[in-house]
Amino acid sequence: MIIETYTPEETFELGRKIGAEAKPGQLYTLIGDLGVGKTVLTQGVAAGLGITEPISSPTFTIIQEYETGRLPFYHFDVYRIGDVEEMEEIGYNDYFFGTGISLVEWANIIEEILPEHYTQITIEKDLEKGFDYRRITIEEI
Ligand code: ADP
Ligand code: MG
Repeated sequence: MIIETYTPEETFELGRKIGAEAKPGQLYTLIGDLGVGKTVLTQGVAAGLGITEPISSPTFTIIQEYETGRLPFYHFDVYRIGDVEEMEEIGYNDYFFGTGISLVEWANIIEEILPEHYTQITIEKDLEKGFDYRRITIEEI
């Protein structure tokens, strides 16, 4: 499925829908360049799960956990990860295969440890269509 957005608010709203429909144990991967809108979409997902606290990028912690929504929400940002072993150290299996919702920004970096099935979300710019245009592709892997 491909969705086109023209403002950050539209991307947030798409995230909110995804969060509202998310089922226990679901894993979302987010792929796209720096500043493309991965965190904006993530903030929408959190809102859709009923989380009201602010969501920032957990760049220096790899994972941020939120327990106040409809389901536990595990927000990963693996941009600065040196080696997938760091994922082993934080016990990623407990998150990916638990009953909460996991979302991984920059998931392509840890592709080798992703499970067999997940929902892949790719965000791309197309400057010919405007600075704030984003093409968002959602695929079941
Ligand atoms: P990432 O997490 O991918 O590095 P962020 O979500 O932190 O990116 O930042 C995306 C930036 O792009 C924000 O400043 C946001 O306001 C801006 N932006 C402009 N247009 C859009 C859009 N259509 N969707 C999402 N973000 C957008
Ligand atoms: Mg981000």
